[in-house]
Amino acid sequence: MFRKSIGLGRCSCRLLSTRAVDVKANVKANVKANGKADGKADIKADGKADGKTDGKAVEFQSSTNSNQAISTRQLLYMTDETSPGSIFFLPHGTRILNKLVQFMKNQQLKYGFQEVVTPLIFKTKLWKKSGHWDNYKDDMFKVIGNDLSREEKESHTPESCSFSEEHEYGLKPMNCPSHCIMFSRFERSYNDLPVRYSDFSSLHRNEASGALSGLTRVRRFHQDDGHIFCEMKHIDQEIRNTINLIKDTYAVFGIDDIEYYLSTRPQEKFIGDIETWNAAEQQLKTVLNATTTTTTTRQGEGQGRSWKIREGDGAFYGPKIDVLLTDAFEKKHQVGTIQLDFQLPKRFELKYVTEDGAKDNRPILIHRAVFGSLERFFAILLDHYQGKWPFWINPRQAIVIPVNDSHVEKAEALQKRLCGDIFNSTDAISPLTGYNFYVDVDKRPATVGLRTREAIQKGYSYIILLGDKDIANGTYAVRTRDDRSITNMTGDQIYEKFIELEKSYK
Ligand SMILES: [Zn+2]
Repeated sequence: MFRKSIGLGRCSCRLLSTRAVDVKANVKANVKANGKADGKADIKADGKADGKTDGKAVEFQSSTNSNQAISTRQLLYMTDETSPGSIFFLPHGTRILNKLVQFMKNQQLKYGFQEVVTPLIFKTKLWKKSGHWDNYKDDMFKVIGNDLSREEKESHTPESCSFSEEHEYGLKPMNCPSHCIMFSRFERSYNDLPVRYSDFSSLHRNEASGALSGLTRVRRFHQDDGHIFCEMKHIDQEIRNTINLIKDTYAVFGIDDIEYYLSTRPQEKFIGDIETWNAAEQQLKTVLNATTTTTTTRQGEGQGRSWKIREGDGAFYGPKIDVLLTDAFEKKHQVGTIQLDFQLPKRFELKYVTEDGAKDNRPILIHRAVFGSLERFFAILLDHYQGKWPFWINPRQAIVIPVNDSHVEKAEALQKRLCGDIFNSTDAISPLTGYNFYVDVDKRPATVGLRTREAIQKGYSYIILLGDKDIANGTYAVRTRDDRSITNMTGDQIYEKFIELEKSYK
């Protein structure tokens, strides 16, 4: 069960979709009220939290403070007044972030997404076309070159286009318009659909400086963003795929308390015809029934799933499914989102050729994200694991502690072995693929006991001790962060064990 708290940020794919989720009370009040949450998850050896609490009522000032304390201890991220609301990920935090991104890139590949890289700044005329300028301008950053005269000289501004439209840019708050531009550039046929683009670009939204907080209320963030251009008949399978990916992904992190909310057509302000809305909503209902009402997870364990309807709560451009997690403090966090969009394809005049040769058909656009904001998901995981990262995502996977100076050389040889293919390559250039782990050596002249305690505090998954007896036996004394019992293993056995843990996301 997912049982930790997180401050709410906002992050959703499309304009007008950044709906605040109902938060009953702040963390502190809830802890006081039920007295059961202690802020510490009961972490199993594999790093997955099982949601049990030990009964001690320890007050959390806030999730942000808790996250910051872990981050300070483990050197994960920081902020600075020179860029309020933008996170500096330190080396060890970057390792975690990169793992999340690589994890999702591999899953998306399996589901037929093609990753793209798109610009950060676009002329305001693009944002006018997409509708962001009318609906979202106040939440965007403007970008203007310092030397406007240079741009003016080089371009021939048409009379219909004002100077500011030609030379003023907006920093993108969402990726959708750039994906629409790419879709529209080439002739598309029904055979090409669905076209699925994924994008991990950084996005900026101009949150008020007073609202900025930790990893959850930020100005710069990244999403595991994806846009699917498809026909009506594809919606069923595409939504099914996305929900399955959401379930499977959250299960990897031991999170199974998931709720789905279907938001339907608003009573008054909506675009498109009612028949299209009804057909789309019916498809979403069918998929939700098929994918979320089982009593077991796809892994065969856990709680039943449910979905609820939010009548009339859809965006004006199409119905949507919001995915929410509930924590031990009864706070809900919106993470994934799936939104159908009939509007943007129209604004960008997207077309494809059908089987019978008709050329004016509009694709439907699906916006979807599984993690949502990576920064927010990072914060959720900080709360979830309380710094006890499972091996596969741990920025400190193992540390080798040589008993004294005479064991240092062997310790460093093991480090190189476990660091993997990049360091072990005998070629000048290291390979692109392979198994590589984050392994340190603590060769300080301190006692083994002290170095072991510090390694546990820093959160290393494995602590590997090396003395005369181990060298004589050709093995190493291996213990985990949570269990002091020792297993004697060879270097190859340790490396194989690490590979097995990474492959099974343990
Ligand atoms: Zn989008």
